[in-house]
Amino acid sequence: MPELNLILIGPPGAGKGTQADRLRHDFSLPYIATGDMLRANVKDGTSLGKAAKQHMDAGDLVPDDLIVEMAADRLRQDDARDGFILDGFPRTTAQAEALEEHLDEEGRRVTAALLLEVPDEEVVRRISGRRICTKAGHPFHVEFDPPKVEGICDEDGSPLIQRDDDKPEVVRNRLRVFHEQTFPLVEFYDDRGVLRRIDGTDSPAAVHDHIRALIATLKLEDGV
Ligand code: AMP
Repeated sequence: MPELNLILIGPPGAGKGTQADRLRHDFSLPYIATGDMLRANVKDGTSLGKAAKQHMDAGDLVPDDLIVEMAADRLRQDDARDGFILDGFPRTTAQAEALEEHLDEEGRRVTAALLLEVPDEEVVRRISGRRICTKAGHPFHVEFDPPKVEGICDEDGSPLIQRDDDKPEVVRNRLRVFHEQTFPLVEFYDDRGVLRRIDGTDSPAAVHDHIRALIATLKLEDGV
């Protein structure tokens, strides 16, 4: 069966994780988020985690060589053979070229690069209200998805905190990094005819419907 190899591109807070979570259930695809993988490495104190932490805390990108190796290892695993959803990778042109090379070697290609478009001021509003629980990382939002009791996780009762890289000055740096280093991927994937633009300011349900409709069109075009 032809594969569905999807990439989600968008600024932090565009809703990539939310959409990926829905799509992985729709299409039974593995969800590969390099940010989550790095955070797990930091938590476990691995050498990769130690090398990545300072960059992550500042909202800067982790060096390409570290990321490319981590992502390629993950993509080689069995569950990614028939397709995947990548969130947060690639994030630079060098990473996109490395991904293309890796897929080429296996006779594969990116099916669609989904660009979730959200203006900067909306990103800041979304991210500055994010909170996660200290026990399991369950996500909340003070404005859009508040916990029943302020500052406490509904699921496990642990205290809620703001991720270091969700603090306002770090968010501003992450946005700058997105515009300077990640935005060039729009042209990269447009040149390859796989870029699809999506209005990320719609409700999560509307964005999801839009993406599913796009994927249905791709299936018709490609016989996926
Ligand atoms: P995210 O959860 O995707 O926002 O990622 C959190 C942080 O992990 C980013 O701000 C970067 O420091 C780092 N990171 C995640 N993915 C990448 C990537 N593909 N390239 C470089 N750094 C990354």
